[in-house]
Amino acid sequence: MSSSVLPVHPARVVPISPGIAIGPARIFRSAGPAVIDTMIPPHQVAAEQQRLQEAITAALQELQELQTHVEKTVGRHEAAIFQAQQLIVQDPDFLEETNETIATHLFSAGAALQQVAENQARQLEALASELLAARAADVRDVAARVLRHLQSEGHAATTPVDQKTPVLIVAYDLTPSDTATFDPAFILGICTVVGGPTTHAAIIARALEIPAVCGIDALVLESLQDGQQLAIDGAQGLFYTQLDTGQSHILRAAMEQQREERARRRLQHETLWRARPGSTADGARIQVFANVGDVDGARSAAELGAEGIGLLRTEFLFGGRDIFPGEQEQYESYVALFRAFGERASPGKTIIARTLDAGADKPFPALEPLIGSMQEANPALGLRGARISLAHEALLRQQLRALLRAGVTASIELAIMFPMIATVEEVRRLRVVYDEVYGELTQEGIAVCAQTQVGIMVETPAAALMADALARYVDFFSIGANDLFQYTMAADRTNSRVTSMFGALEPAVWRSIDMIVRAGAARGKLVAVCGELAADTRIGPLLAGLGVKELSMSPPAMLKVKAALHAQTMDYWQQRARELLKAETAADAQAVLLS
Ligand code: PEP
Ligand code: MG
Repeated sequence: MSSSVLPVHPARVVPISPGIAIGPARIFRSAGPAVIDTMIPPHQVAAEQQRLQEAITAALQELQELQTHVEKTVGRHEAAIFQAQQLIVQDPDFLEETNETIATHLFSAGAALQQVAENQARQLEALASELLAARAADVRDVAARVLRHLQSEGHAATTPVDQKTPVLIVAYDLTPSDTATFDPAFILGICTVVGGPTTHAAIIARALEIPAVCGIDALVLESLQDGQQLAIDGAQGLFYTQLDTGQSHILRAAMEQQREERARRRLQHETLWRARPGSTADGARIQVFANVGDVDGARSAAELGAEGIGLLRTEFLFGGRDIFPGEQEQYESYVALFRAFGERASPGKTIIARTLDAGADKPFPALEPLIGSMQEANPALGLRGARISLAHEALLRQQLRALLRAGVTASIELAIMFPMIATVEEVRRLRVVYDEVYGELTQEGIAVCAQTQVGIMVETPAAALMADALARYVDFFSIGANDLFQYTMAADRTNSRVTSMFGALEPAVWRSIDMIVRAGAARGKLVAVCGELAADTRIGPLLAGLGVKELSMSPPAMLKVKAALHAQTMDYWQQRARELLKAETAADAQAVLLS
């Protein structure tokens, strides 16, 4: 937008993020806590220090969640801001100084934290470097988050803005956390009094493509009302508080045009990656598949360009019901799902159907009349997955019959996979059942596909350790990274108190994946990863570097992972994967991911 089309009288401010925004103002008061200056009696020192520790743990967990959220909604680079904030909140010197302030000055945890954080932020600002000033804002952002927990306001990472009508946010200041939770569909633009183009909040605004300016007059901010029409030009650094009809018209048209251009750009990008098969920059093929849990998922996987379904969670058929579905009902559901995918994807794409993975995090009441109570002291270590299939073979036979019959009704290649494998005996027995069912169907004159591949999920440490032997009995491995992480780290995947103690990539898990890949490759068996690790744009390509040939993930992640894979050559990913294998700690691994 050239300034020549813009009318007169806007205030000159600092351009932060380009674009025109016009709409109603929303005065944003940060969710940050009020200043605290509470004193405590000496006997309360230990209790305050304990409260501080708990608030830090809660804030750390929130930051990890925010990092994951920002990685998905904004990008990897911006998510690193919240990773850096995790280092600040975990800084032992910071904790020690705060604890000391509690003990020596008899300050409450909140008051001590505020003082220590403010001192640290001011020291950083005094160094007169833009980079360090951005870090000062992060220190304040982190302190405000911990303080909210100390003030028992719990989870405060979500935006306090009511995001129903698109608005222009006007604030004195915005933290990176505030900005990261804004939804660009509802935030037209951002105007603040303080800030600058290099702050982390500015970086996030640009990544979200939200027009922004800073440097508006603090007195003007005081005089503004919610709902008042405002406009900004984030490229030129213009701020409009009074608009006549002609001005509004011009600015609205400019904003509309800019939105259309953006939508067109996104569509072009999506169309490109949807149609393109997964590969590295030098053309090494890595198939990008989808994890699917129902018919809608299958449809959208195909529409988003899935090269196959790497994990069909057949549990969708068994949940939320009292009576277990019989063979015919299962058959009909599989037919619907296979067709939903087959009709939208190009012919002959693979669908890997996992047999029922009941138990632990996937309880099915309808199973209880058939197999007895599922109540166990340690369900994750109990009767689940293939263990149920082998203890109650009739259920498995019924499912295999339904799957194999349905496999020939759509233009897909069906593959079968068994979950929660721990031993070679289990696989041998499962294969016997599979061969028998296959033979029965053929004898009955029922059409079944001749090429159905049979694989297993490798998701227990036992299976990882026995991968070389297991590879003899299967056509492929699919690594269930969610459970492999849970069982390797002895950390319940549903318990955020323990999962938050570990990095996304623990060296133990990475080494285990390497071992499985090598065992598969030694016998010429394809190794896939279908746990959520594959959906991480930093990790997916490194899995390819280790030798994983197929990455399966929730459909919305596929385009980003394809783009990430294609950013470098296979040599590069192999070298990075090798560096990662040298990591001794999650922090080392994190450093490799970020480097
Ligand atoms: C896994 O464990 O990684 C996996 C893909 O299976 P689920 O999440 O369904 O247990
Ligand atoms: Mg699993």
